[in-house]
Amino acid sequence: MRLPKFEHVQPSSREEASRLLQEHGSRARLVSGGTDLYPRMKYGLTRPDVLISLKGLPATPPTVDPNGDLHVDALMTLADLARSQTVLEKTPLLSEAALSVASNQIRHMGTLGGNLCQENRCPYYNQTHTFQFVEPCFKRNGDQCYLIPKGKKCWAVFSSDTAPALISLGASATILAPKERRQLPLENLYTGDPLKPLTISDGEVLTEIIIPCPLSLRGTAFMKFTLRGGMEYAALSVAVVLDMENDGVLCRAARITVGSVGAGPIRAGKGENAMAGQRLSKNLFQEVAQLVVSETHPFPHHGYSAAYLRACLEVETRRAFSLAAEQITRNPGDPG
Ligand SMILES: Cc1cc2nc3c(=O)[nH]c(=O)nc-3n(C[C@H](O)[C@H](O)[C@H](O)COP(=O)(O)OP(=O)(O)OC[C@H]3O[C@@H](n4cnc5c(N)ncnc54)[C@H](O)[C@@H]3O)c2cc1C
Repeated sequence: MRLPKFEHVQPSSREEASRLLQEHGSRARLVSGGTDLYPRMKYGLTRPDVLISLKGLPATPPTVDPNGDLHVDALMTLADLARSQTVLEKTPLLSEAALSVASNQIRHMGTLGGNLCQENRCPYYNQTHTFQFVEPCFKRNGDQCYLIPKGKKCWAVFSSDTAPALISLGASATILAPKERRQLPLENLYTGDPLKPLTISDGEVLTEIIIPCPLSLRGTAFMKFTLRGGMEYAALSVAVVLDMENDGVLCRAARITVGSVGAGPIRAGKGENAMAGQRLSKNLFQEVAQLVVSETHPFPHHGYSAAYLRACLEVETRRAFSLAAEQITRNPGDPG
């Protein structure tokens, strides 16, 4: 399949990219690695006349600020992110999530910003070009759903692997607009609406992710469940961060985020509350995993039924808790 014709514009800075985006309005799209956008253009799902490319702009290597927080450039490729020693030391959870994306080739093209801003997925929308020849579904401005034939809404899932990990780490995003720079908690980047998954608007560029790295005793785990275990999007993913009291016995706070089973990443607030203040144990992991399943309501998608995803989510959440707890007992003096 061929890409449609478009004008390729190479700005010399992020500020210029943002200005150009606003100038061209809905005719323009931002492109980084193109691994998500180009297939959609080939399938006729988006037809920008102008592509504003971030690809030629240099990405700053990850840095740690005086508060100990980690700053990661959104233009970094996932391959560079996964092999950054600074990221591995400060937030191994993020390295793990970045390394789980697609294949080595795609990680060398795909960027963190593109990963966080990728389009929602559905087999009847952006997995093949065939559906451009039939009556449009909700996601293509139509009024029907092919996945759930009598469905009244769109069921396209958001499948970024890095988003759940970063949300569990309490990351915030820096957004650059032509006249301002703003920061928002990463979870607020997502609307939960499959038809408009992101809260950023046309002239805005995601430039940086900031991850707080407290010096508490911490265990983390990222589980990505796929059928084949190869180059594959997640059937579901779960990212867990357990911050412990100084005694290493009681859990001070937990953050649990589930990915790929909804229109955006889903924080499991009830599960987090149930974990806080508790002594870690297998029974607790089982109880909280059940709570996580009951509050996240997995969407059926890509051939996985909701019942199957619920069963898998319980198992993967339990495993994530056990791995995070093992990390705590292995490195009791390590802030993780
Ligand atoms: C075969 C295959 C397998 C894949 N498997 C996975 C997987 O397992 N897990 C996973 O998470 N993803 C997967 N992907 C999706 C994709 O490759 C990655 O998400 C990748 O990180 C996207 O980054 P990119 O730079 O190529 O994005 P692009 O395609 O350049 O952009 C994606 C979207 O984000 C917008 N955008 C890009 N950069 C910015 C920015 N800085 N600010 C604001 N908006 C921006 C673009 O306008 C576009 O709408 C897969 C893709 C393919 C083709």
